Amino acid sequence: MFSQNYIAGVPYWWEHGDAAPPLSSSLPANADLLIVGAGYTGLSAAIAAADAGAKVVVVDAGVPGQGASSRNGGMFGAHPRVSYQQLSKNIGEQAAAGIFEEAQSAYDFTSALIKQENIDCYFEQVGRIQLAWTADDFDQQKKQVAWIKQNTGMAMELLERDALANEISTNRYYGAIRFPTHASLHPKLFHDGLLRAALERNIDVIPHCEINSVTQQGSDFECINAAGKKISAKKVLMASNGYTRGKFNWFQRRVFPLPSFLIATEPLSNNLIQQLAPGRRMMVETRSRHSYFRVSPDGSRIIYGGRAAMRPITAERAAAILKTTMCEVWPELNDVQLSHCWSGNTGYSFTHMPNVGVHNGIHYSMGYSGSGTALAPYLGMKAAYQALGDKRGETAYSKTVFKPQWHYVGGKPYFLSIAELWYNNVVDRIESAKARK
Ligand SMILES: Cc1cc2nc3c(=O)[nH]c(=O)nc-3n(C[C@H](O)[C@H](O)[C@H](O)COP(=O)(O)OP(=O)(O)OC[C@H]3O[C@@H](n4cnc5c(N)ncnc54)[C@H](O)[C@@H]3O)c2cc1C
Repeated sequence: MFSQNYIAGVPYWWEHGDAAPPLSSSLPANADLLIVGAGYTGLSAAIAAADAGAKVVVVDAGVPGQGASSRNGGMFGAHPRVSYQQLSKNIGEQAAAGIFEEAQSAYDFTSALIKQENIDCYFEQVGRIQLAWTADDFDQQKKQVAWIKQNTGMAMELLERDALANEISTNRYYGAIRFPTHASLHPKLFHDGLLRAALERNIDVIPHCEINSVTQQGSDFECINAAGKKISAKKVLMASNGYTRGKFNWFQRRVFPLPSFLIATEPLSNNLIQQLAPGRRMMVETRSRHSYFRVSPDGSRIIYGGRAAMRPITAERAAAILKTTMCEVWPELNDVQLSHCWSGNTGYSFTHMPNVGVHNGIHYSMGYSGSGTALAPYLGMKAAYQALGDKRGETAYSKTVFKPQWHYVGGKPYFLSIAELWYNNVVDRIESAKARK
């Protein structure tokens, strides 16, 4: 099934973009703001803080960007993952309304950042469609669209089943919602551009520098890395999301790593791509496999992601599972070879919403729950302003619920193995049966 050049575990995106830029190798003695994590959150926070006049240092335990920020699907939009009704129940109507309003602010901020920094990352407003797997799902979508149109300014349209032929060549779905303003990008090129923008501002970005402890000393923080080197920082911002590790237990208990997997096909003919996905949108499904798929930015491949597993498995196993799921939608891809399969950690909060805040003096923004290409740069900027005491840091995302579950002490999310059994053996079967009706 796999071609000889199938590369286990290496993202397709890593074939493009900058070779490793020259980065700092030693930790300076002090900073106004130390940022832990050099993905979208950390770099956007760094740019905002440096532009506000702060001396900023960004450290990453590995190679900057090799967390989720160069592994994701490149689907760009900031609408909340949970319904308005659910959010209102959790945090009250006013805060929920604030979050829905900020979806547009986040989209505008991050797309403007891409433009302002001349980041060439195939950013394109292609729109997104959310495809209904069952007739019940489509009924829910109808209610959702009616409610959102009446109560918010968010752009979305309902697509009846007949209209889907313009979008995708399958009869699997019962209808869809189209989000016309959503966009697509190349995730690594986006990260490369943010890194370049940080380096142009003379921000120190230090790879392979894992911070192990942060201790308050007077009004400052003493931070020590794995090699025992120290930096004194006036403020610290955690931007470690689904890769939070070590002694940051308070954060780990609130944001757990949930892997998501992706495959890329070998290059396909223009005709086949046009036949499969004539709408060229970003595509997601309502079923709980969380499948998301798209055409690659150069128009040559299908990139298909989803829940191959809820815990780490080999790339070969994940590829086999995702290919089966992909071929349920597009049986014509059965004989096509895959070139890549990879995974990354999404940082899930227990309410599926991110939070921006401060704990024991340490600022943070995390918990994007698989939806961070537009939100992480925006909320990184907000967290940086909060750390600097700048009122531009105000955001409704400081009001989301950010609580641990009593049974989870952080580290390895043991409950995902149980959840996986439940999804594989119960939820997926029910959804398949409903879809066949
Ligand atoms: C497979 C996958 C597909 C996705 N698809 C989409 C999508 O299509 N659309 C969308 O909107 N979102 C998507 N997401 C989510 C999105 O990629 C993330 O929300 C976003 O990249 C988070 O950025 P970040 O900077 O907060 O975290 P990351 O990019 O994960 O960076 C965190 C960094 O922190 C570093 N770190 C952790 N602990 C320490 C420490 N103690 N010391 C130093 N460094 C540390 C890590 O090394 C890592 O580099 C996807 C995620 C994954 C994994």
